[in-house]
Amino acid sequence: MKLHEYQSKRIFAQYGIPIPEGDVATTPSEARAIAERLGGPVVVKSQVLVGGRGKAGGIKLARTPDEAEQLAAQILSLQIKGLPVRKVLVDQAADIRQEIYLGVVVDRAAARPVMMASSEGGVEIEEVARVNPEAIKKVHIDPFIGLRSYQTRRLAKGIGLDPALHRPFDRIARGLYRAFVESDASLAEINPLVATGEGGAQGLAPLLAVDGKMILDDNGLSRHPDLAEMRDIDEETPTEREAREAGLSYVQLDGEIGCMVNGAGLAMATMDITKHFGGAPANFLDIGGGAKADRVAAALRLILADPNVRAVLFNIFGGITRCDEVAKGILTALEEVKPQVPMVARLVGTNEEEGRRLLEESGYAMITATTLAEAAQKAVAAARNP
Ligand code: GDP
Ligand code: MN
Repeated sequence: MKLHEYQSKRIFAQYGIPIPEGDVATTPSEARAIAERLGGPVVVKSQVLVGGRGKAGGIKLARTPDEAEQLAAQILSLQIKGLPVRKVLVDQAADIRQEIYLGVVVDRAAARPVMMASSEGGVEIEEVARVNPEAIKKVHIDPFIGLRSYQTRRLAKGIGLDPALHRPFDRIARGLYRAFVESDASLAEINPLVATGEGGAQGLAPLLAVDGKMILDDNGLSRHPDLAEMRDIDEETPTEREAREAGLSYVQLDGEIGCMVNGAGLAMATMDITKHFGGAPANFLDIGGGAKADRVAAALRLILADPNVRAVLFNIFGGITRCDEVAKGILTALEEVKPQVPMVARLVGTNEEEGRRLLEESGYAMITATTLAEAAQKAVAAARNP
């Protein structure tokens, strides 16, 4: 789950990281009121869950409350990378002397978190990694020991930071790491962390987190009801929301064969073999273990809601999940959704005869298969000539 900039920065502030004062507005007049309260120059920032807002015109400096109101009206009418802007953050504006990148992510290869810093802040770190990888300094963090000051000093020196800023940098880096760990995040990033000059709003810290981004591990959210509540359902596609509410792992892709599978590994194998036989999966979908009829029905609704889907492939391995339960789920869903596309089913394992019998007796034209290869080939053929 991605957090908005303002949410991430509020969390950062709880860990002692200096952020500009500011607040969120949903209307131009609210933006004006915040600017009046803050006094001095402000920056009006679209809150959408994509990067590159600056380039898209979603971040503007305002010298007066009047201007803040006008700019907020402008920004609130924008769509950025297809997402309508519903909220703006109005923050004290900083006079920026230097923009630094600072972030923590999980380094899977090293099996531990890595903190990265770069003097080339403000631009996307992926871009820096591509054109100037030496500009990114890294330290790996032992999760049992945590981030130590000698490591943050190494980063600060590595990016040539003004020695007068090493102390605040150390506090910010260690705060960021704690925010990352204690929120069960997979990413916590400040880009840019800025060295402030004299020209902006009064009383800003010498090192200030001007932008903030956090991605939380969905599997950790049950431990953080307060963070789980921060989910912005406006930012989810209807499909993503339905999948989450039904407890399904669903990722939409751009192929034409809808895949309904139980188990992530089996789902991946199914996608591979579909590709192998010349098809393209329309989605990744794991209905999970022990899936009951209603969950199967929800999954089928999701698949059929995708207009690109030209055939559906059911590949169910009945272990804990019983094939007859899945078959009932399929039938329930079919009654509801009345699909216009051919369907191929391969059900094996617990109660497979019963499952197959239910499907055959239902009167729906269901193509059956016994092996995965056969099922995939039939689905590819069916998608081509429905
Ligand atoms: P992003 O484009 O979505 O990553 O949004 P950021 O919050 O990182 O802002 C993009 C850029 O806008 C920053 O790199 C800065 O150059 C500029 N910016 C953001 N806040 C301020 C501010 O308070 N003062 C000034 N002068 N520039 C700002
Ligand atoms: Mn940024």
